[in-house]
Formats: sequence, structure tokens, C-alpha cells
Amino acid sequence: MTLQEKKIKTLFITVYLLFGVLITIFVSLMFYNSLQSLHNKVFSEYKDVYVKNSNEEAKRVVDYFIDSIKYKENNLLISYKEKLKRKCETGYNIAAFFYDRFDDKLTNKQLKSVILEALQQADKNYVVIDGEGKIVLSPYFNKGFDMSKFKDAFGNRTFDIIKQDIRNSKNAESFIFCYMDKKHKNKPSMCNSSFLLKRIVYAKYFKPLGWYIISSVLYKDIDRKLQKSIENEIERFRYGTHKKNYVFVLKIIIENKGLKVKRIVNPNLPKKLIGTFVPLNIKDISGRMFLRDMLKVAFTKGEGFVHYKFRVPLSKKTLEKTTFVKYYPKWHWLVCSGYYPSVFYADLHKKDEQLKSFIIENVKKLTVWLIVFEAFLFVILLFFIARIMERIKVYREELESREKFSKHLVESVPNPLFILDKNGEFIGVNRAFVEFFLCETKELCSKNEDPDIMLVKDKAMEYLRKIDQTNPKEFNIVDDEGKLRFIELYNSAFYDLNSEVAGVVGVLFDVTKSRIAEMELRQISIKDELTGLYNRRYFNQVLPREIERAKRYDNPLSFIMYDIDHFKKVNDNFGHQAGDMVLKTISDIVLKNIRNVDFVFRIGGEEFVILLIETDKKDAYIVAEKIRRIVEQYDFGNVGSVTISLGVTGLRKSDTLSRIMKRIDDALYQSKNSGRNRTTVL
Ligand code: GH3
Ligand code: MG
Ligand code: MG
Repeated sequence: MTLQEKKIKTLFITVYLLFGVLITIFVSLMFYNSLQSLHNKVFSEYKDVYVKNSNEEAKRVVDYFIDSIKYKENNLLISYKEKLKRKCETGYNIAAFFYDRFDDKLTNKQLKSVILEALQQADKNYVVIDGEGKIVLSPYFNKGFDMSKFKDAFGNRTFDIIKQDIRNSKNAESFIFCYMDKKHKNKPSMCNSSFLLKRIVYAKYFKPLGWYIISSVLYKDIDRKLQKSIENEIERFRYGTHKKNYVFVLKIIIENKGLKVKRIVNPNLPKKLIGTFVPLNIKDISGRMFLRDMLKVAFTKGEGFVHYKFRVPLSKKTLEKTTFVKYYPKWHWLVCSGYYPSVFYADLHKKDEQLKSFIIENVKKLTVWLIVFEAFLFVILLFFIARIMERIKVYREELESREKFSKHLVESVPNPLFILDKNGEFIGVNRAFVEFFLCETKELCSKNEDPDIMLVKDKAMEYLRKIDQTNPKEFNIVDDEGKLRFIELYNSAFYDLNSEVAGVVGVLFDVTKSRIAEMELRQISIKDELTGLYNRRYFNQVLPREIERAKRYDNPLSFIMYDIDHFKKVNDNFGHQAGDMVLKTISDIVLKNIRNVDFVFRIGGEEFVILLIETDKKDAYIVAEKIRRIVEQYDFGNVGSVTISLGVTGLRKSDTLSRIMKRIDDALYQSKNSGRNRTTVL
């Protein structure tokens, strides 16, 4: 495993672990939060529902008892009515029995007395009134009391009502309520009707004697019975979860001094406390006078909820209570029912704790599962990474072998070869390049600031930037030994995967040898064999080029044409070889007296042209005169002295090649014509 692979592996493990931990924490927290918020929502809803249900239930219980009172009262009234009716019928039957038996045996007075005796024996409460309204038998009124004049608390003549009823009834019976004022007899009371003695009266008419047999009961007695029955019912009543809800009854007693509140029923209290009074200013532990609150609710709205807290006896626990209070005015009862929210809250709290631990348990489980899953994923990923690494390795090896191959290929090229990137930096050079430029190593070649290497680079970049794309490019460099070398450079651009130019490959060819041979060949073809001067052919090549160049750079250019005087005579007198010697000797003199940049051409048998570069005709004249004088003074051996005639001219702007030729020709002609051995400037 390479260092890089190790690094990648370590990086992967670190990142994976870091992410794993973060994701685990994140997911677990999210899970916990969502469970928690769900739980909070459910619990708050549950709480609301509990409060609503409990309130409704408390109210229902109270309403049930109030309804129960009315229902039972009704039932009691019906049963009492039956009882009274039966009693009257019994009385009637007794009267009828004795009347039938003794009617003809006893006097009327005796008969009446026997019947009354029998009635009294049967029940002490029978009242008998005769047809005139006089009391015949009564435990309450004196005998002979005139009932026809009696008015009840509301001023009704009770006896008249009874008589009326009986007359209208099929069975000669009457059922009425009669109200007696407790304190002010016979006077209607302005007090509440409950202060009246209400009596339920049943009367049956016994026709033979014209008697009204009456049986009655005080409503108070029924009411007491009713109260007792309700009290018992409440006493036995238990409801709510674990019978934790409660119901109790308080009675308000109105006295001259004020109110008193008595405990009537309370199944949760010890028996001895029943019947005791509750202090009006009783406070709960938060200082609230909850009894007053109850009374306020009772007297203002008739019913309502009261909340208070109290300490559980012999314990530090406080309990909240929510009590529904309803006032039952007939008995001045406060029927109360309620529940302990705190008990519920405690339960709720317990459940909450359970649920919380359940949530935590599950979050823990999830976390463990996440870790297991991550570990599993880790193993799988590791497996795949190992496979990918293996592939990369194979690929890299393949690449390396290819690279080796291409390196080998590059190396095996015998010519100096280099590769530049598009910015002109060396990507590589081969061994031949190193050897050629003598830079010891490839790295040094790439960094070398050798002007020759820089030149090669510039040429290649010119090609790449499409400044000059000739192939090959030819240029010279000077080698270590100071020799000029002729180089040909072949460039070729290469491209990246996006088909954009990536760089350039260059191969150098050292063409020095072939170039020198070529030049030598050329020298032969442009020079005159005898004199070693340039020939006419070369003159035809050079002249237009130099005229063009001088014109372009606005440089002066001058021409000297010379011809040997009476050369024919030399040939004739001394032979052709002597003539050749003269030609050669004068040529050498001319070559010695001109600069390297100047040219001398043999354009005819013994006619010559000197081309003086960047020289005006004044200076050309001086050069011409100098040559003329040297030739004049030169000793040509047995030939003796030889002279030459010269014509000089300078390049003019409007000049063409033929004009120039004409002018120097003319100049030379003038020199010949005016006596020879002289120079004419035109
Ligand atoms: P002028 O003073 O008028 O020039 O008289 P000239 O005799 O020099 O006449 P011209 O220039 O016409 O002479 C040309 C002669 O040069 C003819 C020819 O024999 C001779 N000549 C031409 N080429 C050669 C050569 O290569 N060798 C020798 N020895 N003589 C040559
Ligand atoms: Mg001549
Ligand atoms: Mg001539």
C-alpha cells in the first residue's frame, strides 16, 4: 500500500467515524425530541380531557342527586297518596260495616259514637267532619270546630274545596294540599312556603251519615323521609378511579345572626363529624376561604366550580380539590362533588416517568441499532474501497508501464527531443537532448538558461502560438567549441482530452554537415574559377536583392565597374596565361581593398563590378581611385604595368537595375574614352 493509499484510508476512516458519530447523535436526538414532543402533546391533551371529563362527571353526579330528589319526591307523593286513600277507604269501610250492622239496632247517636270509636281504634289520625262542617273527630281540632269557616295560610276555605271536589268526583273523594302557617294561624304568610306546614289531605264522603272521613299527613314528614333516603344514597355513593372522587352535602342554616353551614353527608369523613358546623371562614393552605367561595357560587349562579388545596391529615402532602357545587334551595343544601387533580397529576407524573424511561430505552436501542448499521456499512464500504484501490493499483501499474514505454520511446529517439506545456515549461527532454546541450541532467536542461535552449524554446512557442508555423524551423547555434551549427526544428502540437492545445513536442536535427556540403557546392556554382570572384550568375541573384534592401532601409549603395586597359595587347604580347595571371592579380588587389560585406563580380571576360554596401558614391570614388592607383603602380613582372579604367555610380531612388547598369557602363565608357586609367563618377 502506498503512502497515498494509507492517507486515503485514514482519511476515510476518520471522516466516516466523525460522520457516524454526528449522524448517530443527530438521529438519536431527533428521535428523542419527536417522541418527547409527541408525548408532551398527548399528555397535555390527556390532561385537558381528564379535567373536562372529571368536571363533567362531578357535575353529572350532583345533577343526578338533585334529579334523584325530585324523582323520589314524586314517588313518595304517589305512595303517600295511595296510603292516604287506602286509609280513608279503610275508615269508610269501618263506618259502613258498623252502619250496616247496627243501623236498626242502635240509635243514631249511639251508632255514630260506635263508628267514631272504631275509627279511633283503627288510626288516631282520622279526622271526621259532618255535613255542616263541624269537627266530629280530630286529633288536632276540638270537637264541634266549624271547619266551614276555616281558612288556610293562603286564605282558601279548605272544607269548601274538599266538598266541591267530592261533588265532582266519581268516587266521592278529594285530594288536596293544605298550607298551615306555623306561627300565625289562619293568616297567609309572607314567608317562604317552606316555613308553612304543608299537609296532604285525602277525604272520602260517607253518605249515610253525611260524614267526611279525612286522612292527612304533613308534607314535612314526607320531606324528612325523602331527605333521609337521599342522604343514605349519597352516603353509599362511591365513584371515580379507586373511588378517589368524592361527594358531600352541606346544609345552610339561616338564622337571625347569620348563616351557619352544617355537614350533612360526607362519606369520607368520620361519622362523629357529621352534623357539626363548618366555620364560615375556613381557609385552605393557600389562605383561600373556599367555603365562602362555595356560598358565593351557590347564591349568585346557583352552581359552579371551586378550587382549593388542603393538607392531607398527618402528612405533608397537599392535595388539590376541584369541587362542583350546586345549591338546592328547597332544603338549603349545597350538593358538592369533586375530584383530586393532584392525585391524577401524581399518577400522570408516574406514567410520565415510565413513558420517559420507555422513550430513553428506545432511543438507546435505536442508537445501538444505528451503530450496528454503521459498522455494517463501514465493513461494506471498506470492502468496496479495497476493491477500488486494487483497481486503481492495476490501473496505475498499467499507466506506469505505459509511461515507461513512452519514456523509452522518447529516449530511443536518436535526435534531441523535448516536450513543452502550453506555458512554455519543459515537461520532458530525452537523453539525446541532454547530450546535445551538455546540461548533465534532464532537470538541468529544463531549468538551464542556456541561450541556445531558450532559443529552441522560443522557436517551439512561436510554433505553438501560431506566430510562425513553418516546419522545420531553421536556425544556427554556436557549439562549445565555437563552431556554428545548423539546426532544423520540427514541431508538433499535442492536445488534451478536451481537444485543447496542451503543449508542443519538438525534435531537433543537426544538419550542419549537410548544410556545409550544400554551401560548398553553392560556392562553386557562384564563383569564377580563375579569379575566385563571384560570377555573373551570382551577380544576377545578389544585385536585385541588395538594391531592394538598400531602398527598404534607405541605405546608400554604390557600384564600381572596371575594365583592364588594352588587355588584348597583353594576351597578344605575353600569351593567354600571362593574361590570366594579370586577371588573377588584379582580382586579388581588389579583394584586399574592399570590406567583407562588399561583393566583387566578374561579369564579363575582363569586366568587373564591385558592390559597395551602405556606401555612397563619394566614398566609392575614393575606393575606386585607391584600387586604380595600386594597380597602376603594381609590377606585373614581364608584363610590366597594367592600368584599369573605372566607372562609379550610386543608387538613386528612382533607379531600376537596367538604369544603374547603363549609368556605370556609361561612366566606364567615359573613362575609356577620355584616355583610360581613370575613374568617372556619374
Ligand atoms: P580597351 O582598352 O578598349 O578595353 O582595349 P582592350 O584591348 O582591353 O579591348 P577589350 O576590352 O575589348 O578586350 C577584350 C579582350 O580580353 C578579348 C580577349 O582576348 C581578352 N580576354 C577575355 N577573356 C580572357 C581570359 O580569360 N584570358 C585572357 N588571357 N584573355 C582574355
Ligand atoms: Mg579592356
Ligand atoms: Mg573589355
